[in-house]
Order: sequence, then structure tokens, then C-alpha cells
Amino acid sequence: MNGAVDSIPLDTAEDLSAEPLGGAAFAAPVRLRGAITNQAGIVTLCADAAVSLGFDCDRCAAPTVTTLHVPMRHTLLRALSNDADWEDYIVVPDLRLDLTALVREDVLLALPTKLLCRDDCRGLCPACGKNLNDGPCGCKKEIDPRLEGLLSLLDE
Ligand SMILES: [Zn+2]
Ligand SMILES: [Zn+2]
Repeated sequence: MNGAVDSIPLDTAEDLSAEPLGGAAFAAPVRLRGAITNQAGIVTLCADAAVSLGFDCDRCAAPTVTTLHVPMRHTLLRALSNDADWEDYIVVPDLRLDLTALVREDVLLALPTKLLCRDDCRGLCPACGKNLNDGPCGCKKEIDPRLEGLLSLLDE
């Protein structure tokens, strides 16, 4: 049996829509794909959770739906041994795994605190409120008073 690989494929959709997320919401059930494998007696859950999130961008308030991928990796044990780092291990004494709870925990931990429509969102102009992703606004930039005199120099 040494070196034998046994595997249970994972392909499920976990509905977390009841979960309060502040300003965001799950736009679709979380799609979990991966496998639980036994390699030489070590049972590992390895999966990707595809999370579809709907939210208003924290910078420009644009309604956004985006998909985040949360990698999940856990070692499953029947009992915890003393030297095990409990963060990575899941104890399943009755050999039943609460997959929904596990996905929920991993996904909530992985959600970014700032949700942006895109990584380089320019946000809104604090003066006129224009969405700067659509182009620059006409507002004058605040000028350091020590440099203000140089404006006339630039004009010459
Ligand atoms: Zn934005
Ligand atoms: Zn402006």
C-alpha cells in the first residue's frame, strides 16, 4: 500500500448567501473544486474556492462583481497529535467533514478588507466628486504655498 494514492474529488457549490459581509454580498454560491487525497497515510484537502462577490467599490462606489480565488489546503486527522500545528489541521473524529463551515471560514478569512473595482482604481475627486477612472477632472491641484510664486515663473 505504500505510495498508493486514493482520492475523493471535490466539486461542489456552497451557498453562503446568508452570510453578512458588510457592504458586499455573495453574487453566487462558492464553487469548490479540488480533491481530498491520501498519500502514504496523510490525508489532505486541496481545493480552490471561486468566490463571486458583488459590492460597491470602496474608492469610486462603482457597482462591481468580481471572482476571487481562495486556495484551501488542510490536513485531515482523526485525532490531534501533540506536535501538530492546529491551524493547518482539521480533526474529524467521526470522519465527517463539515465542508460548508470549512469553506465559510477560509473564504471569510481571505476576503480583502478593501474591495476595489480594479487594483488601480483612481477613486473620486475629493473636490468635485468626478470619477477619476473616466479621466481627470478640471479641479486645480492644491499648490504648496512655498511654490505658489513659481506659477508666475511658469507662465512667463
Ligand atoms: Zn473603483
Ligand atoms: Zn475634481
